[in-house]
Amino acid sequence: MNLPFVLAKRFVAGESFEEAAPKVNDLNNNKIKVTLDLLGENVTDKSMADETVDNYINLINSIHDSKLDSTISIKLTMMGLDISESYCRDNLLRLLDEAKKLDQFVRIDMEGSDYTQVTIDLFKDVFKSFDKHVGIVIQAYLHRTENDINELEELGADVRLCKGAYKEPERIALQNMPDIRDAFIKYTRILLNKTPYPRIATHDDELINWLMEYTQDNDISQARYEIQMLYGLREETMKRLAQNGYNTRVYVPYGTMWVPYFKRRLMERKENIWFVLSTLFKD
Ligand SMILES: Cc1cc2nc3c(=O)[nH]c(=O)nc-3n(C[C@H](O)[C@H](O)[C@H](O)COP(=O)(O)OP(=O)(O)OC[C@H]3O[C@@H](n4cnc5c(N)ncnc54)[C@H](O)[C@@H]3O)c2cc1C
Repeated sequence: MNLPFVLAKRFVAGESFEEAAPKVNDLNNNKIKVTLDLLGENVTDKSMADETVDNYINLINSIHDSKLDSTISIKLTMMGLDISESYCRDNLLRLLDEAKKLDQFVRIDMEGSDYTQVTIDLFKDVFKSFDKHVGIVIQAYLHRTENDINELEELGADVRLCKGAYKEPERIALQNMPDIRDAFIKYTRILLNKTPYPRIATHDDELINWLMEYTQDNDISQARYEIQMLYGLREETMKRLAQNGYNTRVYVPYGTMWVPYFKRRLMERKENIWFVLSTLFKD
């Protein structure tokens, strides 16, 4: 599909690191940390997967050199997971070696349910050697998260909790928002009580308000967790949270392969379609 980038610019910080970097800098100046995501998924060609790993390695070097306060988020299907698990593992190890050398952190995003088990397996495998440099994502809507979260909490993993962005059938995932919110709250409680520093990723006021009340009522300091949101959404809210002493991080996607990410943002909330249309008439 050949869509013009102007459509995506509300949610995507640019098509190159150079375009995204000033936006990261602005966020950092507002006490908001960043995780940079070089967009793309489902690479089936080895030369493209190798190039992606090189690009990720360049990215952590650029972050290091420009002293931006940013980690990176990656997708295993961009590193050859569809080609083979062992090839993807080698690529992940190559990236994590560099991350460790530069004292950087790599978050493995969670993709559709076909990849959940293999993503968790690979994470557990590399966590043994790279515990401070690698984290994972858990999706509250999946039925299996009930078990996965206990396993990850016992390991002491660094977990980002989100609702889940992929369309999944009823046998695999909760379908109704009240059920997904209940699950999100249940898992946030577990992460707050049993892991050192959970990352709570949502734009949902009901969940953010619950989080604030719960942590206050249970004497859980603001320093013990982080609130994460996506670039282009709720920027004022994030600034306010940061000013009020909450640890905040914005997920900043960039790159030329922005179409699938952009489509997920449009699908999950009809207001996002208005956002996009309004940008067309703004500048
Ligand atoms: C940092 C981050 C990383 C993520 N990583 C992953 C990942 O690795 N894998 C994955 O599957 N998914 C990921 N997601 C996406 C996530 O799973 C959800 O699809 C997405 O966040 C939408 O759910 P929500 O809870 O934010 O709000 P929604 O369920 O979209 O909305 C719930 C309510 O929140 C409020 N709200 C939402 N957006 C806005 C807004 N812009 N302005 C005002 N109010 C709003 C509204 O009241 C709305 O009714 C990530 C999300 C974030 C924030």
